[in-house]
Amino acid sequence: MNLILFGPPAAGKGTQAKRLVTERGMVQLSTGDMLRAAIASGSELGQRVKGVLDRGELVTDEIVIALIEDRLPEAEAAGGAIFDGFPRTVAQAEALDKMLAARGQKIDVVLRLKVDEPALIERIKKRFEEQGRPDDNPEVFVTRLAAYNAQTAPLLPYYEGQGKLTELDGMGTVETVAASIDNALEPVAAG
Ligand code: AMP
Repeated sequence: MNLILFGPPAAGKGTQAKRLVTERGMVQLSTGDMLRAAIASGSELGQRVKGVLDRGELVTDEIVIALIEDRLPEAEAAGGAIFDGFPRTVAQAEALDKMLAARGQKIDVVLRLKVDEPALIERIKKRFEEQGRPDDNPEVFVTRLAAYNAQTAPLLPYYEGQGKLTELDGMGTVETVAASIDNALEPVAAG
């Protein structure tokens, strides 16, 4: 099963993805994590993207599509991928559909975690204090939210048109959101 965890930054995608990895043995494909790892390693890619992440803007489609393509065989071997923070543009979504189709695969479901903006801003304040991630800085976060609204939210009609979109309330505790994800995945896993 291939699923996309969809939602604005700080919606809880990463937290829920990690739980699904532990419980279902799926592979989490987080382009944000991959880019941060590249930056931490000091690679050529890392040096190229650091400024973009620090500003809260999106890196180019080509970069993230290539990162994901590299990891698809591993996800397939594990029985499925959880896409977290990818795709973020319609071009990325189209590329993902093509890459999966070439492997005889598809996206099975897109789970949208709905969290309102005041709650996101509250969460990010806390995360910034706890983890100090530079792009969680409240000013940069405004840019990240704007990128979501302008470039990523248009994916909702894309996946709705494919009949794959399921909307979930992401405002509850980690446990209640986890329970609604499990519920939503039941019919998908049953095929
Ligand atoms: P995230 O951890 O998913 O919030 O991603 C952190 C940052 O990495 C984003 O603000 C972007 O700068 C970059 N990034 C992650 N995923 C993508 C993507 N699919 N497309 C473009 N930029 C991305």
